[in-house]
Amino acid sequence: MMDRREFLKVASVLLAGMAVPVKQVEALLNIPASQRPKVAWLQNQDCTGCSTSFLNSGDLLQFLTEIVNVVAHPNISFASGKEYHAIWDQVIEDGGHVIVTEGSIPLKNKMTALTFGQTAAEFSKKVFESAGLIICAGTCATFGGISAAAGNTTGATPIPKFLKEYCHWDDAKIEQKVITLPGCSVHPAEIVGTVLDIVATGQVPKRNADLSPIRFYSDLIHDHCPFRGLYEARKFAKYPGDDGCLFEVGCKGTITHRKICPSRKWNDGANWCVEARFGCKGCSHKDYFARVDGAMFTSPDDIEYVDWRHIVS
Ligand code: SF4
Ligand code: SF4
Repeated sequence: MMDRREFLKVASVLLAGMAVPVKQVEALLNIPASQRPKVAWLQNQDCTGCSTSFLNSGDLLQFLTEIVNVVAHPNISFASGKEYHAIWDQVIEDGGHVIVTEGSIPLKNKMTALTFGQTAAEFSKKVFESAGLIICAGTCATFGGISAAAGNTTGATPIPKFLKEYCHWDDAKIEQKVITLPGCSVHPAEIVGTVLDIVATGQVPKRNADLSPIRFYSDLIHDHCPFRGLYEARKFAKYPGDDGCLFEVGCKGTITHRKICPSRKWNDGANWCVEARFGCKGCSHKDYFARVDGAMFTSPDDIEYVDWRHIVS
């Protein structure tokens, strides 16, 4: 359990720039565990990267368990088989949970993702209908991402579109219930910061047209990049790893709205894509792996196909 001082320290960083009184945040520590909001994590057609990122979050993961009850997560559940299935039956029956959902849902070849013997579409519909709030974790859940890349045969569908086209929710209902946190993967601070925001204020955060919290997704990567001066001076790198701004070797920081990468970096603040001299590949952008016009590296022709069976045999 975190002590008060440590709790407030983490909370103040997560709520930076927001006018939430300290007393309001401090009060969260006194809410009995049984009365905290319940969170259940659902995985569909995904690579588990968002879960891996979230579960590696150290202090932030511990912080989250101080303010909510995580009742289900497929990768860390002690329960398995029938017991785990029963937990989800209870989630659906009780209703009102915060559902964090990772991955897209296949609507063309529905059998490519199954949950408890049901199609992901069938099972997710029940979960979403009973949810209090739905947080789409990552680009696959928000926009389709890699699972919906050109050439995908599964009919990978992001959650807001799934709710509209399969569950027949109207725009008002989707706007009321859905928060999107795009990124491949989602950053732990985006998840925990959003949940803290909701629990501390009792309100859904202000969001943009894609339903992503403005405080995390309004600024461009380019706005806070340490190499911005080199961009303005037109000092561009010729190859990734070279000195200079990475614009001419494909950095997508000029079109990608995401504040967390240059501000908190990744892996506990160790580094991030641009300072690692790779450039931003636009992983939170709605066109990430979804466009076929060549503006992003999305056509199957752009990707060198490697037959891994020869490598492992
Ligand atoms: S490296 Fe990318 S984000 Fe940074 S200044 Fe250049 S184009 Fe912008
Ligand atoms: S810098 Fe760009 S590619 Fe890297 S994690 Fe952030 S949004 Fe994604």
